[in-house]
Amino acid sequence: MAATMMDGKALAERVRAEVAEEVRAFGEIGLATVLVGGGAASQVYIRLKQEAAAKAGIAAKDVRLPETTSEAELLEVVAGLNADDAVDALLVQLPVPKGIDEAKVIRALDPDKDVDGLHPLNAGELMLARPTARGVMEILAEYRIELDGARAVVVGRSEIVGKPVAQLLEQANATVTICHSHTRDLARVTLDAEVLVVAAGRAAMISPDMVAAGAAVIDVGINRTDAGLVGDVDPGVANVAAYLTPVPGGVGPMTIACLLQNAVGCARLRRENGLA
Ligand code: NAP
Repeated sequence: MAATMMDGKALAERVRAEVAEEVRAFGEIGLATVLVGGGAASQVYIRLKQEAAAKAGIAAKDVRLPETTSEAELLEVVAGLNADDAVDALLVQLPVPKGIDEAKVIRALDPDKDVDGLHPLNAGELMLARPTARGVMEILAEYRIELDGARAVVVGRSEIVGKPVAQLLEQANATVTICHSHTRDLARVTLDAEVLVVAAGRAAMISPDMVAAGAAVIDVGINRTDAGLVGDVDPGVANVAAYLTPVPGGVGPMTIACLLQNAVGCARLRRENGLA
C-alpha cells in the first residue's frame, strides 16, 4: 500500500493564516533578512521568506549585500538592524561568503531578534525554536504520529536540523538514535526506525530497503539535481512507509511558516520586555 503523503504545504498555509491573524492583532511586526552575495538556493530561500512574511502582513525588509562585503561591514549592518526598533526579528541567510566568520555573525545578532534560534545565548531553549526542527515536529503532530516510546532515528547531526530535531523527539518521549557520516551500517539502524527523519543533504540516499514497513518518514533534504529538487529519501520509499513527506511540499513550507511564527514570538517578547 502506498504511504500517506504528509502535506506540509497545506499545513503551512494554515499556520501562515494563523500568523497573519496574530500580526493583525499586534499592529506592526518587522522582519529583516540579510543576504550576502548568495547562490541560487539562498536567493530562492530569501524570496520565499520575504513573500511569506509580506503575505502575513509582516513588514519585511530585504537587505542585500554584495559578495565582496567584509565581515566588519556585515557586522555593522547587523548592529544597525539590532538597534532598529522597527525590526522585531532578524536573520542572516547562511552560508555567508568565505572569509566571514559565521559564528561571529550569529553571536552579533540581538538574541531577542534571532528568529532562526541560532544565538548561543540560551542555546538550549533557542535550539528548540529552530524553524526546520519545529516544522518537522508540527508535521508529525498533524498526522498524529505516536512518538511516546517510539523508536526514532535521525540521520544528520547539524546544529540547524539534526540536533534540534533529535532533542525535540527525545522531549516527546521517543527513543532517539542519531546517525551521521561515521555511522556503520546505516541501513541496520534506519530499518529499526518507527519514525525516521533524514537531514543529510544526499540525494535519494535512503532507499526502500532501508525503511521498515509502516514507518513514518520525514525527508528534510533539499538537493538540486539535473532532474530538479529532490529529497534525501528515494520516492520508492512510499511503497514501504506508512507516511512520507514529499520534496518539495513537505518540510520546506513548514520551515517558512515556523519562521514567521518565531517572528511573532520575537515581537511578543520584545513588547513584553518593554523593548518595542
Ligand atoms: P549539513 O550541515 O551538511 O549536515 C548534514 C549531516 O548529515 C551531517 O551531520 C553529516 O554527518 C550527515 N551525513 C552526511 N552524509 C551522510 C551519510 N552518507 N550517512 C549518514 N549521515 C550523513 O546539512 P543540514 O544543514 O543539516 O541540511 C541537511 C539537508 O536538509 C540539506 O539537504 C539541506 O538543504 C536540507 N535543509 C532543508 C530545510 C528545509 O526547510 N526543508 C532546512 C534546512 C536544511 P557528519 O556530521 O558526520 O558530517
